[in-house]
Amino acid sequence: MVKYYHTCHRELWFYSNKLDVDRSNTGIVHGSKIDDTTYTDGRRRVFIDGTIAIDVLEDGTVVEIKRSSKLEQPGEWQLKFYLWYLKTNKGLDVDGQLSYPRERKRESVELTTEDEEYICKIIPEIQEIIERPAPPDPELKPICDTCAYHDFCWV
Ligand code: SF4
Repeated sequence: MVKYYHTCHRELWFYSNKLDVDRSNTGIVHGSKIDDTTYTDGRRRVFIDGTIAIDVLEDGTVVEIKRSSKLEQPGEWQLKFYLWYLKTNKGLDVDGQLSYPRERKRESVELTTEDEEYICKIIPEIQEIIERPAPPDPELKPICDTCAYHDFCWV
């Protein structure tokens, strides 16, 4: 939800209100393939409280795997939310990394005090959006062409 909040509020609403997505969507198929073929040594996917799903826990570092660095900001906030959740709810002060296997690239992500304040601010905003009786209006963005919800917005 934190990722979608930074991508598109309408997408956040669809996702949170359990609208099914088109699994033949190229972007989704692509993403799944990377998830399924990367980090096959058993270190992947840690589910916590039914709230966060960590891709990889590697030597105490939370690693979030992404298909492309093009949507870096939403992925970064998703990972910062994980770090915040672990710190706030589990007393764990851990570092994060964004991993882009296709680009052979990794980036370190740290949670700052300002980040923590920002996350506390957006949580009620996310709640307000997903509890609306109808989705926010569509806004044309570069990602719309590959978005799973494209046909709910632009046909
Ligand atoms: S198609 Fe565009 S406006 Fe519609 S949900 Fe996806 S990103 Fe948002």
